[in-house]
Amino acid sequence: MGYVDEVIELVVRKNPAEPEFHQAVREVLESLRVVIEANEEKYRREALLERLVEPDRQIKFKVAWVDDSGKVQVNTGYRVQFNNAIGPYKGGLRLHPSVNLGIIKFLGFEQIFKNSLTGLPIGGGKGGSDFDPKGKSDREILAFCTSFMTELYKYLGADIDVPAGDIGTGAREIGYMYGQYKKITGSYEGVLTGKGLTYGGSLVRKEATGYGLLYLTEEMLKCNGHSIQDKVIAVSGAGNVAIYAIEKAQQLGAKVVTCSDSNGWVYDKDGIDLAALKEIKELRRARLSEYKNYRPNAEYHEGRGVWSVKCDVALPCATQNELTLEDAKDLVANGCIAVAEGANMPTTLDATEYLLANGVMFAPGKAANAGGVAASALEMTQNSERLSWSFEEVDSKLKQIMVNIFHNIDDAAKRYNAAGNYVVGANIAGFEKVATAMMDQGIW
Ligand code: NDP
Repeated sequence: MGYVDEVIELVVRKNPAEPEFHQAVREVLESLRVVIEANEEKYRREALLERLVEPDRQIKFKVAWVDDSGKVQVNTGYRVQFNNAIGPYKGGLRLHPSVNLGIIKFLGFEQIFKNSLTGLPIGGGKGGSDFDPKGKSDREILAFCTSFMTELYKYLGADIDVPAGDIGTGAREIGYMYGQYKKITGSYEGVLTGKGLTYGGSLVRKEATGYGLLYLTEEMLKCNGHSIQDKVIAVSGAGNVAIYAIEKAQQLGAKVVTCSDSNGWVYDKDGIDLAALKEIKELRRARLSEYKNYRPNAEYHEGRGVWSVKCDVALPCATQNELTLEDAKDLVANGCIAVAEGANMPTTLDATEYLLANGVMFAPGKAANAGGVAASALEMTQNSERLSWSFEEVDSKLKQIMVNIFHNIDDAAKRYNAAGNYVVGANIAGFEKVATAMMDQGIW
């Protein structure tokens, strides 16, 4: 049995009941097979893969808090500090009832390579809780966040571990957690990112994932002989990533004709009206069905369907596994030339394979949506410097980072005879830096 297969088997055996973690390890190691086989003797002697798939530390803790009826509630908190070979642990805190150790480990493992790809000094981690913020009062959110940070603070530090937001953890939750960290430690340090602009947050963080997605897509098209100008783009989702992807696509001269939420989707052949979309989603937090009140000529359909329209470029920005094999077949039949993932894991594995086999340029989320964590790392730098950069300064750094990511993954794919396969390229480019840093630092 080869080294890759041995380690996959080890992970499954040592971590039963963690299917998402198994899946993430399998996907990454399979695409690294060519690099690992080329260095097998050295990596085996160093037990490099065994060390890579074992988190440095997994912290699990009780979070007790009092609800509005006076009853005590108990949740479970997690922080997985996966790998700090290239910088302090960095990754979001997910608050959702589905959270368990296996999901946090899968996200933390992926985060190692995504963070490495940004070229910035950040290691991989992830955390969260099975707490459900939906329907909770402000006071209950404050009670939970305070209790959560009362335990978590022991493991954090600006040079140790710097969490950020994720599903269920937005500016409000980050603010409450930061306040509690400061109260306990007395230290005003950049220990969380996604902070408010009045207390150390960074401009462009809100726009960063969507803008970054377009910067990378523009570069990928350019290097393959196409311009983004006048391209017809299908976007899914209508949340943070989708809205700012649409904004930047329009600024770059493309026409976005779709968006969606979990109830239905809009087709606006004249181009999405971004002001209307922001008013519906950001201001009124309403359903997308209302879009027709602003644009009577647009179509609104219940259910799924974004990928059935004719487009040149598809940008899935909603959720995991939302672009299936059937959708990929529709996209190819309709002449789509590129897919770039704004969401985490939105394309199923068979759909990805179909797109690649049919010559569609495909940018995986690990590279394409890294703009969010890149802007977080820039927030850390500003905090260390005690400075706040202008919007233009952060935006131009973000653009440079995304362009560099594209060239790194493109070069890595070419070096291993997989030119144009950016899935392989992203995993290899992310892995190489971490592997070298781990071996240079001895045994840990
Ligand atoms: P939001 O919660 O702001 O938006 C998600 C959007 O997707 C909402 O419009 C939501 O609709 C829609 N959606 C959810 N489920 C479905 C579904 N089954 N079908 C169609 N639409 C659906 O999240 P973000 O925009 O922040 O994140 C989107 C994705 O991007 C996630 O995978 C996230 O992990 C990833 N990501 C986000 C980053 C960031 O900086 N925000 C960074 C890197 C990755 P509804 O409102 O009806 O639920």
